[in-house]
Amino acid sequence: MTLNGASINELERLFQDLGEAKFRALQAFRWINRHQADNFDEFSDFSKSLRERLKELPLLPKLKILGSEKDKDGTEKYLFEVPPLSERAQPRQIEAVWIVADNRRTICISSQIGCTLNCTFCATGTLPFYGNLPAWAIVDQVYAIMRHRSERPTNIVFMGMGEPFHNYQNVIKAARILHHPEGMHLGASHITISTAGVIPSIEKYIHDKEPFNLAISLNHPDPAGRLAIMDVTKKHPLDKLLKTLRQYTRERDRKITFEYVMIPDQNMDRDAVQKLIKLARSVRCKINLIPLNTTLGGMRRPSMQEADEFYQALLDAGLTVFNRGSPGRNVNAACGMLALQAGGH
Ligand code: SAH
Repeated sequence: MTLNGASINELERLFQDLGEAKFRALQAFRWINRHQADNFDEFSDFSKSLRERLKELPLLPKLKILGSEKDKDGTEKYLFEVPPLSERAQPRQIEAVWIVADNRRTICISSQIGCTLNCTFCATGTLPFYGNLPAWAIVDQVYAIMRHRSERPTNIVFMGMGEPFHNYQNVIKAARILHHPEGMHLGASHITISTAGVIPSIEKYIHDKEPFNLAISLNHPDPAGRLAIMDVTKKHPLDKLLKTLRQYTRERDRKITFEYVMIPDQNMDRDAVQKLIKLARSVRCKINLIPLNTTLGGMRRPSMQEADEFYQALLDAGLTVFNRGSPGRNVNAACGMLALQAGGH
């Protein structure tokens, strides 16, 4: 149990167990999540003796920024060291990205150390997988970047390394903390959780009425085509996924965001366009197009013209579609490029 990544209820129990007053919980929650305090010395309404006592305990673990790399477009990628998460574990590394675009300042955060999904086009899948990040290590990516930059993001997206819905509990806990009025109080519509389509977690998300935006990495409109590039489809078939998403849009009265990585020779031909149009008309959605950023397995990035034609075909069909481009490409910080290569310190 740690103070960061804990709910106010959990903090109340923790302070009671320490023989301290219950109101310390709210104070601690504010220091950590509203003021992004770095250490107990900043807890100025705690007595010196209490601060000294807390310092003795492993209650406030921190990520360390090992380096960051800045693109000329304003994007900055941060490399973090995660301290060992169990007695026999090693320190590990993860990345998060600061993205500036269209009046938004977005922090893209990681949910796992590596990823087990192995999507053929994504560089994170080539790394070894070391496990789930605890809630504190998810929110601390945001806080460390805020401290480093002395500025606040307008948006947070769970689109860094890992599959958020394979670490459901910690991800939802982190999102709730970021949304909490006593913390950063970021609006729920400014927090987006992205999944490759882990159906039981989506069902739980619907059932629990989580208020955050839900994004689905669709990437192919056809079951066989999707299976060829995304293993996750084996366990979580496309038709069942779409059924679950329709339930979400109906019960929550919201749109789904589909992310669609444009990969020539895989998912951009006429057949794919037609199938994607049909699919998108069957679910209330908007589509974010992302040009492929990697060259894994000999795949290539679409030309501007190819990307534009694809975009135009969807637009002409009356769909809500955006071509997001690839902020951060020059420093390997764009979608699908997070594979621990941050340079400068
Ligand atoms: N695992 C979750 C969270 C990662 S989000 C998910 O799949 O949604 C990362 C986004 O970047 C996903 O939409 C993914 O489809 C996209 N992506 C992965 N590799 C990419 C690449 N090489 N080029 C462009 N986008 C990529």
